[in-house]
Amino acid sequence: MHSKINSFYDIVVIGAGPSGSVSARFAAENGCSVLILERDREPGIPVRCAEGVSHTGILPFIEIDKKWICSKIVGAKLHSPNGESLEMYNNGDGYVLDRRVFDRALADLAVSKGATLLTKADAIDLNKNDKGEITGVKFKHQNEIIDINCKIVIGADGVESQVGRWAGIDTSLSLSDIDTCCQYTVNNANFEDELCHFYFGREIAPGGYIWIFPKSKTQANIGIGIGGDMTKPGKGPRYYLDIFMDKYFPNSSINYMVYGGVPTRAGNNFVKDNVLLVGDAAHQVNPITGGGIVQGMIAGKFAGETAAKAIRENNISKKILKEYPNRWEDMLGANQRFMYSIKNKFMDMPDEKLNNLVSACKKIPQNEFNLYKLFKETIKEDPVLLAKLATSFVVSKLKV
Ligand SMILES: Cc1cc2nc3c(=O)[nH]c(=O)nc-3n(C[C@H](O)[C@H](O)[C@H](O)COP(=O)(O)OP(=O)(O)OC[C@H]3O[C@@H](n4cnc5c(N)ncnc54)[C@H](O)[C@@H]3O)c2cc1C
Repeated sequence: MHSKINSFYDIVVIGAGPSGSVSARFAAENGCSVLILERDREPGIPVRCAEGVSHTGILPFIEIDKKWICSKIVGAKLHSPNGESLEMYNNGDGYVLDRRVFDRALADLAVSKGATLLTKADAIDLNKNDKGEITGVKFKHQNEIIDINCKIVIGADGVESQVGRWAGIDTSLSLSDIDTCCQYTVNNANFEDELCHFYFGREIAPGGYIWIFPKSKTQANIGIGIGGDMTKPGKGPRYYLDIFMDKYFPNSSINYMVYGGVPTRAGNNFVKDNVLLVGDAAHQVNPITGGGIVQGMIAGKFAGETAAKAIRENNISKKILKEYPNRWEDMLGANQRFMYSIKNKFMDMPDEKLNNLVSACKKIPQNEFNLYKLFKETIKEDPVLLAKLATSFVVSKLKV
């Protein structure tokens, strides 16, 4: 056995991304013994993310610290297929993070509350007893196979999650509900305006969009996400991104390239027996923005607190553990479903309609224009969605 760890923990968290570290932190803070297993050599690498978050989204989870903020964002600029553009402020400020540092800070916070973090620890299965009950986790650490016993497992192992599958949770998605993404971190270009840019259009990014998230005045994450069902041989996300780069940034230099998937259909299947899934593993990404950092942290708090309650009361029953999905549903369930409907409206829009949408929104005075108005204009011919948008419940959650 590795000297740093015990043979038993109340809770084992698999994955030290934002959702895993926040789960571990809230479980440890509530008195549980917690082990976090992370397969990479440190949390936060490799970065497969555009690193954008809202200020209000991260504030409840960690004190804002300049060391993990690359830039401040004050608004967004939407570019229609015909080249028209529209600026949107009034949705609150945000940041482009340095996720290497940010993810590590979240993991450090969990450790400061009493959790144990083991890196280079690759979970390979869940252990079961004769009755088929999950009793712990099997993982590989420096060529050694180690078994750890625990009462609850939290699967925070990201979009390619295996924990759900091992536990018998159906985590499959149709191709149209997974965006395939490619992103360059670009240097030697000019990003002066403290805005995130989004480019839409069938030719530009079928079933998705291209983003520019500036990290400094000369560096940005420039990426694309397209519907998984829109890729064709030789025409994956990189194909479209390269056309865009040639057009807008022919002289920039590309430092890093990453590929990644984003689950865009809101999940609702997070718990089975004593296994809880959080974050990308549970498909808790905002379906329209693809943002999952804040969503994962919200889920992590709910899952960590619920798991700790079950341990404290020595009652790992469905009745107690279901508090986690219930809290998620109360806070974000309707919002996730609404965002999914809006996403489908946007992504199915022909270019001409997108052009008209931007023209129509340009008539709204800039100090009144926000996401709510954009969505209202998008769904103005759909009374059911309009009614949903009008409920304050949904509107109040649009910023997450
Ligand atoms: C191109 C791209 C751009 C994005 N841009 C944004 C953005 O701007 N803003 C935003 O909010 N979201 C963005 N997202 C989504 C965001 O990155 C995720 O939603 C977020 O990282 C989810 O956090 P998580 O903790 O659930 O999973 P992850 O951050 O993926 O963490 C999972 C962790 O589990 C570890 N792991 C996996 N399997 C095992 C195992 N078997 N054993 C041990 N450890 C394991 C991994 O190494 C990893 O550290 C983007 C995604 C992509 C692909």
